[in-house]
Amino acid sequence: MKPVASTLLAIFAVASLGCASAEALQQKTERKKYEVTHTTAEWRKLLPPPVFRVLRQAFTEQPWSGKLLDVHEKGVFVCAGCGQKLFKSETKFDSGTGWPSFWDPITKASVDEVEDLSDGMDRTEVKCAKCGGHLGHVFNDGPAPTGLRFCMNSLAMKFVPDVPPKK
Ligand code: FE
Repeated sequence: MKPVASTLLAIFAVASLGCASAEALQQKTERKKYEVTHTTAEWRKLLPPPVFRVLRQAFTEQPWSGKLLDVHEKGVFVCAGCGQKLFKSETKFDSGTGWPSFWDPITKASVDEVEDLSDGMDRTEVKCAKCGGHLGHVFNDGPAPTGLRFCMNSLAMKFVPDVPPKK
């Protein structure tokens, strides 16, 4: 009986592991109900075409092309689709990649992270947690204290300075 019991235990353990990973994947990829939702046609009307392509079609802007790359004033970077606060200027750093980069979102709940296997790569996509807009990707080669590099598209965000510019 003992060998049979241990075999059954082993089978059960393997089956449980399989279930756990499948469940984790499902949680990552399941469709979320976002607070801000529009149809594709509505988003197309609401957003300028280059912004629509990034936020709603997950395009990546050309490196060094973004208007937010050289923004160094104090303020908050918000989603260009819904205004959700995403990153503080204090967490922005020069990654040398040509895309605005941050080492932490404003809160963990501000963004969603989703496994992205497109283009033959295994990456982690970063989406706005309020509207589901594609913002960019997060990598593990960032600076302290988190070691994360949130590689964002300028087109996906707007900058709101702490001190509004004088008119
Ligand atoms: Fe958003």
